[in-house]
Amino acid sequence: MALQSPFWNTNVRLQQAAENKKPMRLFEPDKIAVTLLQTAIVNTGIATIKIDGIYGEQTAKAIRTIETRFNMDRDEGRAARQTLGIIDILLQSGQLGKDLAQTDTALATRKIQAALGALTFFLTNRQPDIALNALTIDALRTHFRLTQTAATIGITRQITNADLATIIQRYGQLVSLYAASATRFRTGAPVNGIFTAAEAPVNGPITFGPSFTNVDSNFGKFIGPNSRAAILIHEGVHVFDKDSGRNDTHISEFEPAYNTQSADLSLHNPSSFASFAAQIDAKRDPVPRFGLGLGAQSL
Ligand SMILES: [Zn+2]
Repeated sequence: MALQSPFWNTNVRLQQAAENKKPMRLFEPDKIAVTLLQTAIVNTGIATIKIDGIYGEQTAKAIRTIETRFNMDRDEGRAARQTLGIIDILLQSGQLGKDLAQTDTALATRKIQAALGALTFFLTNRQPDIALNALTIDALRTHFRLTQTAATIGITRQITNADLATIIQRYGQLVSLYAASATRFRTGAPVNGIFTAAEAPVNGPITFGPSFTNVDSNFGKFIGPNSRAAILIHEGVHVFDKDSGRNDTHISEFEPAYNTQSADLSLHNPSSFASFAAQIDAKRDPVPRFGLGLGAQSL
């Protein structure tokens, strides 16, 4: 995907640089492209520089400002895929990384609270009010392979109070995590590459890369609010569960294997927590599910 903003998307030289074919650097000869770049830097508030068509130290320094903000390796101030892509998102009035993720905690929290409400109700009313728990029972079977009754179907097993306590505790931890997002979220270039939307080691922080944005960019198609909320829940589980990244645990909600994962593994799967909360909140299992699957990103 190329630069999207109409401000500069017809400029061949900038598009070339944005594809890393020939980055723009000190003494770039294409003055029209440099003028557009300088204007974009000023208009997006990255830096106040002179717009003169000369790629000098001022322009290079402004580019390094972006590299610093994203915790990227700093070079001599070359404008290429990553830096131009970030300016392009800002030109489209898009939000980036931590800033966007912090606003998304509201939607993620709403879904988690819906899940917590349903689970708490289920815990105290599961026997007398099976009909009232129909959505919860369906979502527990779909995303955790846990069933209300002893009769098991395929890979499922009967739910215990300990299972419910595990799920409730995890969601509670996520709510606390989001409340501390100022220090536990960061904007940056993910270790797994700039096309990775977000990543988190155990104990965090969660790093949100340039592809975690609400507009199309040269990092890919935009990720919609429901899918970004799914990412927040998913990454949050990684922060608290050291087993959540294991190969047998970490199965995406879009993979067929998700539907046949055992209950014991599902209780560690970050995608199970994201998709369970999404189903309770939406009152159905969304098709396609929210997250980073093909066709789901704009949702
Ligand atoms: Zn993950």
